[in-house]
Amino acid sequence: MGRTCDYPGCSNKDVPGSCHGFHRFPVTDVALRELWLVALGFKLDTKLAKMKKLRVCSAHFSEEDYVSCPGHRKKRDLKRSAVPAPQFCKMNVQGNMIVV
Ligand SMILES: [Zn+2]
Repeated sequence: MGRTCDYPGCSNKDVPGSCHGFHRFPVTDVALRELWLVALGFKLDTKLAKMKKLRVCSAHFSEEDYVSCPGHRKKRDLKRSAVPAPQFCKMNVQGNMIVV
């Protein structure tokens, strides 16, 4: 049960009690979804049907990518313009992006 994050190399699972939120691809926003594809290292001609199934966990977004909602860490919403960190970047424990 529970699906795994589709970010390459990430094995976070969407299971009850997980500290990670899971986000759907912004399929309706063509420009934004291309940025997501690039960040994940997917081809730009990835089929829409496949894109709709992709999920990216909260480990690839920084604090600034979220609409702040104190007290509801798990239910936070991504900003509409948020893009996952590219593959060569990682978040450190403070939620800052670092190049690895
Ligand atoms: Zn992930």
